[in-house]
Amino acid sequence: MVHTSGIGSHTAPVSDPLQGYLEANKQRFVRELVELCAIPSEASDPTALDAAATWCRDRLASAGCSARILRVVDAPALVVGETGSGKRTLVGVQHYDVQPAVPLALWQTPPYEPAVRDGAVYARGVDDNKGHLLLRIQAIEAHRAVFGELPIRIRFLIEGEEESGSSNLGRLLALHPGLTDGDGALKEGGAIDAAGRPQLSLGGKGILYCHFRVRTMSRDAHSGGATHYPNAAWRLAHALASLMDERGRVRIAGFYDDVRRPTDAERRMVAEAPFEPQAMKEILGIERFAFGRGDEDVRYAAVFEPTCNVCGIESGYNGPGSKTVIPCEATAKVDFRLVPDQDPMKIATLLRAHLDRSGFDDVVFSAEEGEHPYRGAADSPLVRAVKAVAEQEFGKPAVLVPNSGGTSPMWVVCNARKMPNVTLGMGHPGAGAHAPNEHILLENYWRALRATTKLYSLFATQA
Ligand SMILES: [Zn+2]
Repeated sequence: MVHTSGIGSHTAPVSDPLQGYLEANKQRFVRELVELCAIPSEASDPTALDAAATWCRDRLASAGCSARILRVVDAPALVVGETGSGKRTLVGVQHYDVQPAVPLALWQTPPYEPAVRDGAVYARGVDDNKGHLLLRIQAIEAHRAVFGELPIRIRFLIEGEEESGSSNLGRLLALHPGLTDGDGALKEGGAIDAAGRPQLSLGGKGILYCHFRVRTMSRDAHSGGATHYPNAAWRLAHALASLMDERGRVRIAGFYDDVRRPTDAERRMVAEAPFEPQAMKEILGIERFAFGRGDEDVRYAAVFEPTCNVCGIESGYNGPGSKTVIPCEATAKVDFRLVPDQDPMKIATLLRAHLDRSGFDDVVFSAEEGEHPYRGAADSPLVRAVKAVAEQEFGKPAVLVPNSGGTSPMWVVCNARKMPNVTLGMGHPGAGAHAPNEHILLENYWRALRATTKLYSLFATQA
């Protein structure tokens, strides 16, 4: 059942026409959000992905955009919407796919029956990224109604594969030259911190996601033979251990060669950003950070350093009781979060060379996902304009983040022109993106919608 109570928040001051417009349209805007979030557009459901793409195309069209759907085989559609005219073009890089909602038992209300309660909307994808993409479209309508025609060209690129690595986005964008032309990109998502400060992220880390496999024998053997039969679990453990030292330094030759040195300005951003090491430790029940890292070290490493992380290992017998066996096969999944200007394919080549050189030529891996990192300039009209509108609407100083720890496809869109990119969003620290009971607070939604509406004018002329 869909609940739709508790939508209102502010009372409209007569002097603020934008607020008046929002008050008059809040019910409809929330209804649209509920409708979009009811579509279960997970990677495993091509029909739902299609339905979400069609929904976005139709909504872009009803906001006055020329909207179309682009397709390549074996990939979710890319929705393109364009409107407005002016000297500048803003590219909205968004996605309509969502993370899987499982485990369903942990949801208070079903993930695809969006519930509006206590000034919040609960649904899978409402924060990441459907709420954000919708408010950016609604802001076009709000702008036309309140401030008049857009003084800027806006192009939406709404993909359906962001949560699984955007692997076909490059192919889709190549269908039409000029799709990535622009003066700045509005990145998906966006957040405010616990103190209510808008966080403006200027990029994201890249990723190389690998599946490792080693097979040492044709079948498992009796562990009495462990003096002489090769154990796949040991083999894989040794290979994984060779990738990194105890200080967290990756030992693959050449791994750090392309890591870009942060500028003084970028280091200052990190120094000024909120950082609460004690709270971080308490949340995870640890006394100290890994690899002997001190608090100050962690502050910078989290933004500027690449990682090598074991996501999971499987081998042999782990069930109840005992089974004395030498496993013949072991597998692992490993992700490397990359920083500018590391290249995932180059890192994969270096990884292969490392394994071969270290005597692990029997350890095979496949790169399942690769995305480039991207970090755009802070010193740009786009970032200045976003900072101004965010601070005005959220009433707190904005915090600039050189790049988030997560990954999004900004390199594919922005790198050729070194286009600046930034988030202007409303996710709060407890929003639960990728987790059960994902939700957004409507109060923040209206603030972000107001800020975005104003951005469309301000960016057109911002120096
Ligand atoms: Zn997302």
